Amino acid sequence: MSYNRANYSVAVIGCQTYGYRMPLIFVFLDGIGLAPANQHNPLTTADTPTLQALLGGPLTSEQVQHRPGLLLRPLDTTLGVAGLPQSGTGQVALLAGINAPARIGRHQPSYPPVALQPLLAEQSIFRQAQAHGLHSIFANAFTPAYWHALASRRLRRSASVIAAEAAGLRLRDLADLWDGQALMWDITGAVLHAQDIDSCSLPISPHTAGTRLAALSLAAPLVFFECFLPDLAGHQRLPLSVETVMARIDGMLDGLLAALPPGVTLLLTSDHGNIEDSVAPGHTRNPVPLLVVGPAAHRFAPVVDTAGVAAPLIDALVAAG
Ligand SMILES: [Zn+2]
Repeated sequence: MSYNRANYSVAVIGCQTYGYRMPLIFVFLDGIGLAPANQHNPLTTADTPTLQALLGGPLTSEQVQHRPGLLLRPLDTTLGVAGLPQSGTGQVALLAGINAPARIGRHQPSYPPVALQPLLAEQSIFRQAQAHGLHSIFANAFTPAYWHALASRRLRRSASVIAAEAAGLRLRDLADLWDGQALMWDITGAVLHAQDIDSCSLPISPHTAGTRLAALSLAAPLVFFECFLPDLAGHQRLPLSVETVMARIDGMLDGLLAALPPGVTLLLTSDHGNIEDSVAPGHTRNPVPLLVVGPAAHRFAPVVDTAGVAAPLIDALVAAG
């Protein structure tokens, strides 16, 4: 099934279906920058028919645009701080709307700076939504292995998990995954086979994953899903190519956009560049794409950096029109 603009127009006019104003699905993709199309940008030729139909071309900076119900714009991730943008500070910026790297004077990889964790907990989009009486769903499923890795200190809590726990969100598990009420971070669940977790119901197709994500938006005004595939592929820590990862993401977007309930807005963005430059060995200082599809798209037109996403997101959830 392919996305088409007829579906989209239905989404734009149906936003009064809910008690809250503008429900939103936030898809966070780690490590995708927005750069010009060229031979070193794998997004130029990646198999992304859904994005191409939506934008009129690949997810490159030539497609920056704003029209009713559709916005693609670049977001600065450097936030005025030297060095390569990183996930720890970048994700705090996105989720809490603060200039995290400026506050600590550097970009911090992987996990949120300890000094900023209280602020993240208090000001996250989940907590702000909660303050307005709005529930959020964290759509990712977390495995027993994940919690064990936290307990044994092999992993630390990501920005999203800190924010979700502080807002009292239920973190979904494998039972939710089997019930079709959650997604694995790799979209299809194929990663679970590597953990010896077997199920005849996995992997699901990317399209099914997108349909599932769309359906979750019927249960809460804010649905959040995070996917680390691009950054891991960019660092060559996966047995998947950047092209394969992009095709999987595009398949998810196909399912998601086709099933997006009336009035729901899709927001997709990233914390820093990586896969859009095959020459750079890791992260880049490129901007990241802010892609917004749906009735709240215009609210994000003034956003210029990753720290600026949270405020209009909350405004969209609570404000009329
Ligand atoms: Zn990285």
